[in-house]
Amino acid sequence: MSDRERFLNFIDGRFVPAGRGEFLPIYEPATGQQYAEVTASSWSDVDAACAAAERASPGWRAMPTEKRAELLDAIANKLESQLERFAQAESKDNGKPVSLARSVDIPRAVSNFRFFAGAIQHFASECHPTSADVLNYTLRQPLGVVGCISPWNLPLYLLTWKIAPALAAGNCVVAKPSEITPATATMFAELCAEANLPPGVLNIVHGTGFEAGEAICTHPTIKAVSFTGGTKTGARIAGIAAPLFKKLSLELGGKNPVLIFDDADFDAMLATTLRSSFSNQGEICLCGSRIFVQEGIYERFRSEFVARAKRLIVGDPLDPKTEQGALVSEQHQVKVGSYIDLARKEGGTILCGGEVVLLSGRCAKGWFFSPTVIDGLSSQCRTSQEEIFGPVVSLYCFRTEDEVVQLANDTPYGLASVLWTRSLDRAHRVAANLQSGITWVNCWMLRDLRTPFGGVKQSGVGREGGWEALRFFTEPKNVCLKFS
Ligand code: NAD
Repeated sequence: MSDRERFLNFIDGRFVPAGRGEFLPIYEPATGQQYAEVTASSWSDVDAACAAAERASPGWRAMPTEKRAELLDAIANKLESQLERFAQAESKDNGKPVSLARSVDIPRAVSNFRFFAGAIQHFASECHPTSADVLNYTLRQPLGVVGCISPWNLPLYLLTWKIAPALAAGNCVVAKPSEITPATATMFAELCAEANLPPGVLNIVHGTGFEAGEAICTHPTIKAVSFTGGTKTGARIAGIAAPLFKKLSLELGGKNPVLIFDDADFDAMLATTLRSSFSNQGEICLCGSRIFVQEGIYERFRSEFVARAKRLIVGDPLDPKTEQGALVSEQHQVKVGSYIDLARKEGGTILCGGEVVLLSGRCAKGWFFSPTVIDGLSSQCRTSQEEIFGPVVSLYCFRTEDEVVQLANDTPYGLASVLWTRSLDRAHRVAANLQSGITWVNCWMLRDLRTPFGGVKQSGVGREGGWEALRFFTEPKNVCLKFS
């Protein structure tokens, strides 16, 4: 074991193994081989991280905003200068094409830090002059120590999306990346130390959700938890953290609809719908998985979309030609496969894909799955209602606007939706009526970090991004001043 890479906790500015000395195996999804191990933390490790964060807190919150912003900028610059190293590590750990990690994951992690370094310098609070002799103003103070818990699909991208606003607002952080993809979080901790982030300001604790994650959610020092992951986990976290009166932000699962009207720009729509279906192997919470197409273009869409999906290159994530890499784990591959069996039982026709892809050479034992398009399902069956989180989409034909809005909204989820039409009237009308935190009109994944981000219904509670994130990570305090 000793020659394997080991990912350790980062507590108080130092790398340390978890007290119990246990490790979890880490696999490279493209090869199916274990390549590293990660320390498995329990309550005592989270406790040590909380103590370090608490010690660092007075100094960090007292640091002038400009100086804090400079440190975040320095971290962004360092990360940018090591983009290739981080992209390679992300791809190896997660299975995504290195080209995607290079163009999306790591640049976005850089942007997260750069954006909040700027945002905190423009963040202002309210002042209400009540009368000639009374002034009410609002202080927005850091919460103290906060917890950030992130998933495996966009490991560094989503970890930094939480850490950056938390730190910018003057909090110290105890963060837990997914135990399936701990590599870039560990490298990032090292980079923060090199950038002279004071010890204890950012602590990374590795381990399972059940042990390390729940310890973060229930530790008395942690004032708020920002969580991104599955809906069931979110419900569990709400159940254990809410009675302790912790502030919670929950970014959860989705079953996002794509609504395609007859008048859409067909070529732009087709190319983007291919991306919104299969990018990152469909393992993006914002991917559209239910595609509703108006009857006038249904046949054409189906045949051209399936032809394009069949041509997608599933391959070694290191190969520049690869468009779709490996699924994150064998367990996930089995889960995705089980939905194909279910879809068949529910009366669906698999138009393409639906099977494990066997590659040769170094990837012979990797966990690949073919881009899958299903037709003929009812919108109410389990395949149409449950989150699969893989390269699987289903098609539905609709006739009217009212009908498709009703179908699109008819799931327990409400994270994202995509709408394709050339009609301005319809775009505004339908966007306003879709039950989701974000609606993209004639585009997908076009993100502006100032906008509120989050879901409705079982896709989450609260919003991240821009001022919303800075508000979440601060406590508003009203000062009412009467002067004579
Ligand atoms: P997950 O819920 O299994 O795990 C997410 C994180 O929570 C991991 O770090 C895990 O260790 C931790 N965790 C698990 N159980 C916990 C517990 N009881 N207490 C505290 N922490 C716990 O999710 P996943 O499988 O890693 O990620 C996939 C899910 O994430 C999908 O449902 C996807 O839709 C969702 N997701 C949502 C968004 C969004 O912005 N809404 C973004 C990305 C992914």
